[in-house]
Amino acid sequence: SKFEQLGLNPAILKAVEDMGFTSPSEVQEKAIPILLQENTDMVALAQTGTGKTAAFGFPLIQKINADKKHTQGLILSPTRELCLQITNELKNYSKYTPGLNTVAIYGGASITDQSKQIQRGAQIIVATPGRMQDMINRRLVDISKIEFCILDEADEMLNMGFFEDITAILSHTPKDKHTWLFSATMPKEVSTIAKKFMRTPVEITV
Ligand code: AMP
Repeated sequence: SKFEQLGLNPAILKAVEDMGFTSPSEVQEKAIPILLQENTDMVALAQTGTGKTAAFGFPLIQKINADKKHTQGLILSPTRELCLQITNELKNYSKYTPGLNTVAIYGGASITDQSKQIQRGAQIIVATPGRMQDMINRRLVDISKIEFCILDEADEMLNMGFFEDITAILSHTPKDKHTWLFSATMPKEVSTIAKKFMRTPVEITV
C-alpha cells in the first residue's frame, strides 16, 4: 500500500516524501482512512515505535481549519519528552500546511512563555495533563471549541496517576468532539475512560 491511497492531501504527502517514509505502517494503514472519512471515535491498541504519531497526526492536520486560529485539536501525552517529540513530528508533518500552529504545554518550563505561544494562535495543543489542567484553571487556555481530542499512551498516563487531571480536562471540552485513544495495553482503567468519554469507538489493533 502507498500513502497516496489513504486519502491524504498533497501538503501532507509532500511532507511524507521529505521525511523519507516510503510506505504506511500497519497502524497508519488501518487508522488514517477511517479517521479521514468518518467523524468517529477510535480506540487503537498500538505500541510506541509503530508510527502511531502519524496515524493520528496526519488526519488531525488534514481536518483542522488552518484559517481559523482557535484551538481545534488537543493531544494529551504522559511526559514532557513525548510531548516535545509529538510536537516536533506534527511540525514536520504540517510544514507545507500554511497557518497551522502546534504548541507544546508541559511542566517544568515557563508558564508565561507557553501562554504567550498560545495567545499567538495554536490550532493544535500537545500537553501533559498536569500543566494543561493548571493552565485551564488559570484561564490561560481555552479548549471549549476543540473538535478532536487524542489520548496518547493512555495506559501510561493512567499509570502515572493522571486519571483526575484527564477527567477534569475533558470536562472543559465539547460533548460533540471526537476522541481518539491510543494505548499499548488495555487495562481496566483505560476501558473505563473509553466507556466514560467515548461514543461507540471504532477499535483497531496492530
Ligand atoms: P512513533 O511510533 O509515532 O513514535 O514513530 C516511530 C518512528 O517511526 C518515528 O521516528 C517516525 O518518524 C517513524 N515513522 C513513522 N511512520 C513511518 C513510516 N510510514 N515509514 C517510516 N518511518 C516512519
